[in-house]
Amino acid sequence: MVLEAAQRLTRDAISQCQLARFNTVLKRAVRSPFYADRLGEVGATDVPLPSLDHVNDLPFTTKDDLRASYPHGMLAVPKEHLVRMHASSGTTGTPTAIFHTQNDLNSWAELMARCMHMVGLRPSDVFINMSGYGLFTGGLGIHNGAERLGCLTIPSGAGNSRRQIKLIEDFQATAVHIIPSYALHLASVISDMGRNPADLSLRIALIGAEPHTDGIRRRIEELYGVKAYNSYGLSEMNGPGVAFECEYQDGLHVWEDAFYLEVINPETGEVLPDGELGELVLTSLCREGMPIIRYRTRDLTRILPEPCPCGRVHRRIERIAGRSDDMMIVKGVNIYPMQIERVLMQIGEVGDNYVIERYRDGFMDNIRVRVEVREEFFVEDMRALTGLQKRISSSLRDEILITPKVELVEPKSLPKSEGKAHRVVDLREDNA
Ligand code: ADP
Ligand code: ZN
Repeated sequence: MVLEAAQRLTRDAISQCQLARFNTVLKRAVRSPFYADRLGEVGATDVPLPSLDHVNDLPFTTKDDLRASYPHGMLAVPKEHLVRMHASSGTTGTPTAIFHTQNDLNSWAELMARCMHMVGLRPSDVFINMSGYGLFTGGLGIHNGAERLGCLTIPSGAGNSRRQIKLIEDFQATAVHIIPSYALHLASVISDMGRNPADLSLRIALIGAEPHTDGIRRRIEELYGVKAYNSYGLSEMNGPGVAFECEYQDGLHVWEDAFYLEVINPETGEVLPDGELGELVLTSLCREGMPIIRYRTRDLTRILPEPCPCGRVHRRIERIAGRSDDMMIVKGVNIYPMQIERVLMQIGEVGDNYVIERYRDGFMDNIRVRVEVREEFFVEDMRALTGLQKRISSSLRDEILITPKVELVEPKSLPKSEGKAHRVVDLREDNA
């Protein structure tokens, strides 16, 4: 019931609690050496914000700030009040460490349970979590949410595909949390065993932790015969449980009673109106141990201005278009890996894995897209394959405005990762 009510807060209730919580968090934050300095510089250490319009006057926090204050510079409570540490995956450099009090863990579990409840998970579900446990927040973070909701929770962890399949079957798992690229790989292992993934007992998949397109989601849904929901989070804001799709699968509701949401122009720092694409900036409104204010996520998205047909008023963000760090400049054009994935997933003959290689072509940078072809098409004659290659090339050209080299490869021949997929490989000498 509480889970349901929190999803159905009114806009007024959200705004009121945001201002009160923002001020509480500011008060806590200045107890940390980092924010004592940072907020001190703008004179924001002892006066509460009169309204949320004044959030704009506060400085941003960046990943570099977290790295510079590593390990304890952002702690707002004595160390003995802490009960857990997590770290980011380090996808884009040195990982950052995040600390939690018991209250922090409780509110995180509550938020996670809220997401799962929203997409229809109930205590009767048997839930299997295929995320790596340990420092990665997708393990314990999702786990605690599932237990809070009351599901029978199986902490299977990452990898060991045959064991995963056995666990699903032996315990008739109905819901799974799985990284999208691994979901596709696991389906191919199941098929290799002569079985059909859709015959398993699963009905719901929570997928996230890495950028992926709607095309990949639809493939997962078709393969397993499930509904798959996009789950977004980052360790700096707890981990999973920040934003989640509802039953309409059109954008992710951000729990605005727990996170203050902004989208900014990454060049100027100016706050953008709803609807415009920019960098997501989040403030944790409930944190005790390590409050983080106006955190620049480097994830690109926009706030969807239209009301969601589900009636929940927590605003939605669009599926993450990519990280600003992932942007490649090739022949003067800005390209994101997700643009390439979107094109590939629209082509029926394309298999479930691809990699983008950056290489030096004379004095210019170029990219080569290596694409797995589906088993049933790979056996076709040379002419058909050449035709497919040309079709992929020209579709990519339409989307990214340059013509990358396209190489078709055998199904299951590209490297796989049990964690987040590595879609871009840099082969340029100075980056090798
Ligand atoms: P790292 O930044 O080192 O990967 P985290 O494990 O904290 O560390 O991962 C958080 C990041 O993962 C997010 O900032 C975002 O870039 C990516 N991410 C998480 N969930 C999603 C999702 N559903 N869609 C797209 N990207 C996601
Ligand atoms: Zn909705």
